[in-house]
Amino acid sequence: MFLAVGVSHIEVRMSHALEQLQFDNHFLRELPADPETGNHRRQVTGACYSYVQPTPVRQPELLAYSAEMAAELGLSGQDCEHPLFTRVFAGNALLPGMQPYAMCYGGHQFGNWAGQLGDGRAINLGHAVTPSGERLELQLKGAGATPYSRHADGRAVLRSSIREFLCSEAMRHLGVPTTRALSLVATGEQVIRDMFYDGRPRPEPGAVVCRVAPGFLRIGNFELLAARGEHPLLKELADYTLRHYFPDLGEPGPDAYLAFFDQVCRRTVALIVDWMRVGFVHGVMNTDNISILGLTIDYGPYGWIDDFNPDWTPNTTDAEFRRYRFGAQPQVALWNLVQLANALYPLIQQVEPLEAVLRKHQQAFNEQLDAMWAAKLGLQAFRPDADDAALIRDLQKTLTLTETDMTIFFRLLPGVDVERLREPSTGWREALAPLMPAWYRPEELELQGEAIVAWLRRHAARLQEDGLPPEQRREQMNRVNPKYVLRNYMAQQAIDASEQGDHTLVHELLDVLRRPYDEQPRYEHWFARRPDWARTRPGCSMLSCSS
Ligand code: AMP
Ligand code: MG
Repeated sequence: MFLAVGVSHIEVRMSHALEQLQFDNHFLRELPADPETGNHRRQVTGACYSYVQPTPVRQPELLAYSAEMAAELGLSGQDCEHPLFTRVFAGNALLPGMQPYAMCYGGHQFGNWAGQLGDGRAINLGHAVTPSGERLELQLKGAGATPYSRHADGRAVLRSSIREFLCSEAMRHLGVPTTRALSLVATGEQVIRDMFYDGRPRPEPGAVVCRVAPGFLRIGNFELLAARGEHPLLKELADYTLRHYFPDLGEPGPDAYLAFFDQVCRRTVALIVDWMRVGFVHGVMNTDNISILGLTIDYGPYGWIDDFNPDWTPNTTDAEFRRYRFGAQPQVALWNLVQLANALYPLIQQVEPLEAVLRKHQQAFNEQLDAMWAAKLGLQAFRPDADDAALIRDLQKTLTLTETDMTIFFRLLPGVDVERLREPSTGWREALAPLMPAWYRPEELELQGEAIVAWLRRHAARLQEDGLPPEQRREQMNRVNPKYVLRNYMAQQAIDASEQGDHTLVHELLDVLRRPYDEQPRYEHWFARRPDWARTRPGCSMLSCSS
């Protein structure tokens, strides 16, 4: 009795900061709710969301949290390690001011209109007001069924939750816009999944991730209202979005909606250019998974490029047509933006200005991709007159002559001796020595080495002309070419250990990925090619949507 009182006393004192979190739930306040409550599956019209309660879990255990994300919310490590934190972010308790709900949205999946989708396993808790005055929405992923769960259970497995948790924070530290992750909580419950849809379902440990973002609106929120002809509500949603996320675009009206479209295009282009730069493949770029704030959202069967291959997709569901392969991401993004243009058309009523915006961003895409590749190569700028287009195009060919690790190649590129290369007597073995760790099949260099050196010579000549001092160039290149990314096999190793109860690798990866552009000698072992065992291992090279 005495002990119990003592514990609860400590709990009240230590949970102070968490319970002091303020909420400003403007989405709920300003947009209409589904009048029905409860989580029975249904079509929801005339509303942007449904109130729904998280389903409590049996035995929540905090596996990891992001100290950086917590700090932005005004929470210390001590606050996160308090039992109340685990209960709240497992979906077992609500803080004062939290109002759980699921959003209603639709989307195009793999190019086809899919109708209503919605938050099937995401439950929003409301917008927290941060100490700096920002509004950040907290959202539980895997906290149980909602009206939008369709045939599924609203839960998430540990493996996909670890992947979402680690990658959200890794992207943040890479400087790529993304939804964030605050916490990773194991539920102590099993979830049944047929990982490869091959009729072999098995129980897996479940988990809940708390995601954080200024907002979780997707292209699909707008598409669904347009598809249903709910134009007054479409306008309400657009006006809400302008008010809270694009306050500088002027009073609601066709011009402001057009400016909004322009902004979404701008952010999306910048985002995809970043993905291409770091070698990230989203894997399911359906319009319900595309943020209108230009954030990476919905980490599912995503993957990281090991060997440079524009045709690679991590998603087994997409293996046949490879719609969402690495090299197709820019054009898919534009296709998605066309869907947003169609959805906003009822508010603008003119095709030509929407098309003009799209054309402008198509052009911007090409320019930004060129600039990005030039920066990866250590050039001060992309110069059409210096034939940089050909240099970049031929680099991409060169990288596929023999399996070449993208991250390692670019990171080691500044180590190539430009002076040496210029000497015609330098043989390929000597010229390629600084890049050796980048090749998966060094024996193939016997055949391809000369061609690679030929490209390196052109690059060296261009660098010479560019004139940046080598040290400055190296520094500049190291700021755009990360040393550490969350390779698929790295996440899988953390998952394998975690499923056995050892979470140290999750913490180690979270830590190494905090400083992806820095040399971190104690983590040098993570600057390595994908090991052979991971080539065909599920989770490392093949991922399904089952999560
Ligand atoms: P995705 O493309 O994986 O983001 O998901 C497509 C749709 O399926 C979204 O509406 C999700 O909310 C929903 N969904 C995915 N997994 C589940 C699940 N386990 N339970 C309920 N809904 C889900
Ligand atoms: Mg989704």
